[in-house]
Amino acid sequence: MAIIKFFTMNYYSFSILSLGIIILNSQCIQVKDVKTATNSDLSISKMSKEDINSIIIQDESVDLAYIMGKFDPTIDERFTIIPDSLANRKGMYLRKEAFADFLKMYKAAKADGINLQIVSATRNFESQKQIWERKWADGAKKYSDEELKTSQVRKTIALKILEYSSMPSTSRHHWGTDIDLNRLNNEWFLKDEGLKTYKWLQEQGSKYGFVQVYTAKGDERKTGYNEEKWHYTYLPLSSQYIRFAKKHLSDDKITGFEGADTAKDIVIVKNYVLGISKACFQ
Ligand SMILES: [Zn+2]
Repeated sequence: MAIIKFFTMNYYSFSILSLGIIILNSQCIQVKDVKTATNSDLSISKMSKEDINSIIIQDESVDLAYIMGKFDPTIDERFTIIPDSLANRKGMYLRKEAFADFLKMYKAAKADGINLQIVSATRNFESQKQIWERKWADGAKKYSDEELKTSQVRKTIALKILEYSSMPSTSRHHWGTDIDLNRLNNEWFLKDEGLKTYKWLQEQGSKYGFVQVYTAKGDERKTGYNEEKWHYTYLPLSSQYIRFAKKHLSDDKITGFEGADTAKDIVIVKNYVLGISKACFQ
């Protein structure tokens, strides 16, 4: 059992709203104490190394194979299946800690008239490979066999897929911490029920550890996937995993699927794995 501190963050203002102490065991997380910090007390940009460490649930089991999605969540005890009532299909998994806090967030949202639904959760290397290679085959259709041998054409196909989908080994969905909510469609989140849902998640999600990863590209996020208003990460675990990935994952390790040869040319780790909102990169 480990005792750790847990900061929740308001994504918009990049401010720490509250500080809690969490007692973690293999089944659940309990918030034991909460005190309030004002915006001026702490901000992500001002966080010290100790502060950053304090938001992380220490996971001693993490290694490069895990970060690259090389495991089976259906038989891995760190994962739990998501009940059908919370998802749009059967058989999706999340890390137990992330699911416990998602459930709290789900109930709070429900009480506010917001219906959260998980439309994608953990995808391991194999399932990401299926998605990637299906999109690769689709993108390759318009080129001749000769053209498909050129690095320029291969890079063009990969970059098109990378607007919204990750290369196997580089997806945050490998980690069991990231979820897609409600609709894979930015437009849906701009009005009516979608806008209400988006606003709620932006204002309340960080209280449960969830923040948007792929915010609008610009000064704050210069490279990577297009904006995804549906993709949220569970920061208490993924903060640790992104730091691990930054240190240990490199473009030359990305192999084992069609188009993997483009990873180095695209500088995939720097531009995509690390091309995320500052709120989730500590
Ligand atoms: Zn996603």
